Amino acid sequence: MDRRKFIRDSLVLTAGTMAAGVLPSCAGGMGRIGAEGTGSTVTEGPLELEWENFTARMKYTFSISGSSRDSTPIVLTRLRWCGFTGYGEASMPPYLGESHASVGAFLRKVRDEVLPGFRDAFLVEDILARTDALAEGNCAAKAAVDIALHDLLGKIMGQPWWRIWGFDPQDAPYTCYTIGYDASDDIVRRKAAEASWSRFLKVKLGQSDAEDRRMIRLIREVCPDTPVYVDANQGWKDRIYAAEMACWLAGNGVVMIEQPMPKDDIEGNGYVNSKSPVPVVADESCQRLADIPKLHGAFSGVNIKLMKCTGMHEAREMVSLAHSLGMDTMIGCMTETSVAISAAAQLSPKMRWADLDGNLLIANDCFSGMKLDEGRIMLGRQPGIGVSPLE
Ligand code: MG
Repeated sequence: MDRRKFIRDSLVLTAGTMAAGVLPSCAGGMGRIGAEGTGSTVTEGPLELEWENFTARMKYTFSISGSSRDSTPIVLTRLRWCGFTGYGEASMPPYLGESHASVGAFLRKVRDEVLPGFRDAFLVEDILARTDALAEGNCAAKAAVDIALHDLLGKIMGQPWWRIWGFDPQDAPYTCYTIGYDASDDIVRRKAAEASWSRFLKVKLGQSDAEDRRMIRLIREVCPDTPVYVDANQGWKDRIYAAEMACWLAGNGVVMIEQPMPKDDIEGNGYVNSKSPVPVVADESCQRLADIPKLHGAFSGVNIKLMKCTGMHEAREMVSLAHSLGMDTMIGCMTETSVAISAAAQLSPKMRWADLDGNLLIANDCFSGMKLDEGRIMLGRQPGIGVSPLE
């Protein structure tokens, strides 16, 4: 096309959009055009944050190396702006050190000290940076703000986040389904039978040599061919033993091992990875973006969880950084409702491994969201994080 014609046609198109008075993608919602016809949006208003405590009841007592529980405290958030509502969530397994009280106190600071400084919800970078700077830690509380903000903005834009980020939903992986440790052979067999729909299983190990091998043998009785991810949750303390165990597990259909050794023993974990026939992935060793460079060369990949890394914004950055260093990525979760699970699922097309079963492990999910098709993550067109509250 002639360059002058191209520019002329573009000007006509822009003027037509101005005359309509709305941004095409926001018709019926917001996005009024400035009266001067400059093209700047003038929509603004207060950001209103609300939250309520919730307790997720586990279907089974959940046991991992070092702890055991029947429920998980959760805080559900709502962020309102210009007639739109975004949902968010903080999930607080006790070993992370957050609670209903700490999350409530943090959210009050966000409501009183951060949000009054903003009248434009699209200032994501600044809103989340100021939220992060309020205090160290509080990662789940920060995620509850981040997820609600992403849900809100996705709804305003009328698109799910996988689409805003430009991911192909066809690339979404299968999630694994987690089988926690249990001392009863019958319960382990029953859990394995209930999980037999899943293409990938994840088994929590790190109890003792005899118990770890018993868990694998029992699961193999019920699901002889299903590929298994093993999560030792830092439970192996000796690197020679851990490397031998990795070889034994690989010979029993285990295809990936998560956090074999204590989180601060990067060298020990790196030794296990160097001897292991299957990739070794960092979970407890990898909390936030800044942790990734020091794990490079030791671990084959990182397990990214919204509750560790403060939410979707930083998780997206972690994916890019890990891939730029040649590391694989996994998307993981805590026991969570469909709110946080569906938020994490938006990132799943960029992941080699997915462990997004947290909503399936609880008996009282209060939202509908991410769907599975025989274990494969199905990303729909519902905007934002794609969730609806259940009655
Ligand atoms: Mg783990």
